[in-house]
Amino acid sequence: MILIRFILYLYKQNHYKMYSNKITDTKQALKFIFAGKSIFTFVNTKTGNRFTYKIKQVKDSNLFFVSVLTNPEVYTYIGTCVEGNYKHGKKSQISTDSQSVRVFEFMLNRLKSDNLPEFLEVWHEGFCGKCGKRLTVPSSILTGIGPDCIKKLSKSEKRDKFLELILC
Ligand SMILES: [Zn+2]
Repeated sequence: MILIRFILYLYKQNHYKMYSNKITDTKQALKFIFAGKSIFTFVNTKTGNRFTYKIKQVKDSNLFFVSVLTNPEVYTYIGTCVEGNYKHGKKSQISTDSQSVRVFEFMLNRLKSDNLPEFLEVWHEGFCGKCGKRLTVPSSILTGIGPDCIKKLSKSEKRDKFLELILC
């Protein structure tokens, strides 16, 4: 059973790779990350280190839950974000000084200050950052947000000053 699951996982990974894309603009990356239901990977091209995160917005609020991919298709909760500030979760099974948490905080700060070194990259994984559905339209594969969702985002999802700034 485990072997079959693993093969399926590899297959899916390769399949989805076709739709994943690097987001080079820092503001666009933040927009994607805080679109509502995003999956993205931070890559360090110098070390080859990479971590995949999922950020989910609590409906009709400015609270976001952050989790990190710890096993194939298993995300583990690490903390929350409000107004673009990360707060480590007391109930998280992952400690504040683990690499995945430190990388997340570091990358978030660098993105916010628009100061990301060339060798650090942000990739979306081929799913719309707002609704989580597979991206199919070429223009939305570039940005990571589907055509309908991008319209909704710029209209109605500005719930605090930080979101207002990045979602405009
Ligand atoms: Zn969407």
